[in-house]
Amino acid sequence: MFFKNKSILSVSPAMAKAFQGIYKQILKFDHIIVFRHKIPDFDALGTQMGLVTWLQENFPKKTIRYVGDDHVTFTPRLYPKMEVIDDAWFAEPFLALIVDTANKERISDARYEKAAFKVKIDHHPNLEPYGDIVVVDTTFCAASELVVNMLHHFPKKHRLNALSAKYFYTGIAGDSGRFLYSSTTGRTFEIAKMLLATGIKLSKEVYTPMYQKQLDDLKVTAYILNNFKVSPKGVAYYVLSDDIQKTLKITAERGKENVNQFANIEGIHAWCSITEDPKDKVWRVSIRSKEKAINGVAAQFEGGGHAQASGAKLNSLLDLEKLIQALDALF
Ligand code: AMP
Repeated sequence: MFFKNKSILSVSPAMAKAFQGIYKQILKFDHIIVFRHKIPDFDALGTQMGLVTWLQENFPKKTIRYVGDDHVTFTPRLYPKMEVIDDAWFAEPFLALIVDTANKERISDARYEKAAFKVKIDHHPNLEPYGDIVVVDTTFCAASELVVNMLHHFPKKHRLNALSAKYFYTGIAGDSGRFLYSSTTGRTFEIAKMLLATGIKLSKEVYTPMYQKQLDDLKVTAYILNNFKVSPKGVAYYVLSDDIQKTLKITAERGKENVNQFANIEGIHAWCSITEDPKDKVWRVSIRSKEKAINGVAAQFEGGGHAQASGAKLNSLLDLEKLIQALDALF
């Protein structure tokens, strides 16, 4: 078996040019801020903090900031709390690097709009190509994988320290399902290898804080396994109302954590969690699928995402039947 000469990390000429353009903007601005999507997951937070840490280490004279909503469990276990930044800071010219966010409405903190220059770096389908430079490539399993690849292509070689590597690794492990989903490629492993070379301790610093559960979490799983339903065409789903969340002592953000219980069950083609979010008066839906693309259905219900992992919203539980029927129609 011969390896092809071309590096596994190589990118198209257009993307290489976009990376050079981003580097130029990083050199140009003294004020830089990194944004990502609302209700963040590991990839959103990992990419944001990985990039912030890399910028802070390599450009110590610049002001590098980060904003957005915190995650109820991921933040205390793995990431710093987001900064609270005064409106006055946004009055000076600044560069906005927006990662892992397909559309403007989902950017956490609308003050990205005030940026003198905006860069979109994402791996979701490019439904809304906002930004002065847009780098979108859906072949990357995680935004973290794409950003580390970008750093690799920057003209000057900079240091990537262990803290930055840890953050990026959480993004890759999170969005690839620990290298399980079909989005995982040889490039994913190559980049993971580069990150591991910084000396991060996988079990102690990455996997334990990412996946450790409490005994009470088993009660949530038990409730779901006792109450899920399966549609005629093999769509498994569970509903967590606000009342049930209170009984189970969880918040809406955590409702989707059990969705992949149904991933490897024969005859189940897609699976969803439906969680009431009383704060926003919606039912948040997480949809996953074995093979068929479900992001089209998600788009019909105010959502979107990847072919095999999407999010959506229901304004009322009365729409649940329509959602399940739309998914059933795929199979
Ligand atoms: P989730 O089920 O929330 O983990 O989301 C799965 C994927 O779909 C993630 O990549 C999200 O960024 C994306 N996603 C979730 N909700 C939406 C939405 N309302 N619009 C667009 N993409 C979404």
